[in-house]
Amino acid sequence: MGLLRQLTKTILTACVSRRRLLTRGPIPRRDVQPQIALTFDDGPHPEFTPRLLDVLADRRLTATFFVIGELAERHPDIVRRIAAEGHELGNHTWTHSEPSQTSPRQFLNEVRRTDELLIELTGAASRTMRPPKGELNWSKLSGLWQCGQNVALWNVDPRDYRMTSADDMTAWCSTYEPCGGDILLMHDNHPWAITAVATMGSRGVFNRFETTTVSEWTGAVKRSGVAVAIQT
Ligand SMILES: [Zn+2]
Repeated sequence: MGLLRQLTKTILTACVSRRRLLTRGPIPRRDVQPQIALTFDDGPHPEFTPRLLDVLADRRLTATFFVIGELAERHPDIVRRIAAEGHELGNHTWTHSEPSQTSPRQFLNEVRRTDELLIELTGAASRTMRPPKGELNWSKLSGLWQCGQNVALWNVDPRDYRMTSADDMTAWCSTYEPCGGDILLMHDNHPWAITAVATMGSRGVFNRFETTTVSEWTGAVKRSGVAVAIQT
């Protein structure tokens, strides 16, 4: 991330309520078990997402899946399974269109279309959205807020989309020191997220840290319709 983008993000984050723009969770109190949020983007994938759900279920972990609408439409049973197993469904636009080539109107239409599908499949709209590549301009961000969407970014990125083997992810896990409030970005359209969860589990990360969904940190309530704004 460039210095200017990082600076803009830091200033925005400082000025805006955490529930409207989340870049990491709260610093945990000393008397409670610290939490981290596992987030998976760019699915659902017909092979990797069900395998990842199996690994999460084995360890009784909770995660947030930022799904692409057109893939969710192709794999509705996986979307329903994600919701049924207690995970959060987030909105990652309909086509994952390139941010620099997508107008605010097109972007917001993609978000609305994805939300409508999620309502159809699960009975509830998403509580949180994540823009492709984490890139937003002011028009898109204010448009999201106007239609009641909270935005969740991340503060830990193993760059799993660049990895070429499970060994790459195992090596990253051996250097990762979790902190309470971390939001990890991974991708369930690649297999390495499965390796990450299994490796972190075997390193005892989930004995020391609870997993939570991002909307537990934004405080967003479950919306039953796309146009219902969240009261802040
Ligand atoms: Zn993405």
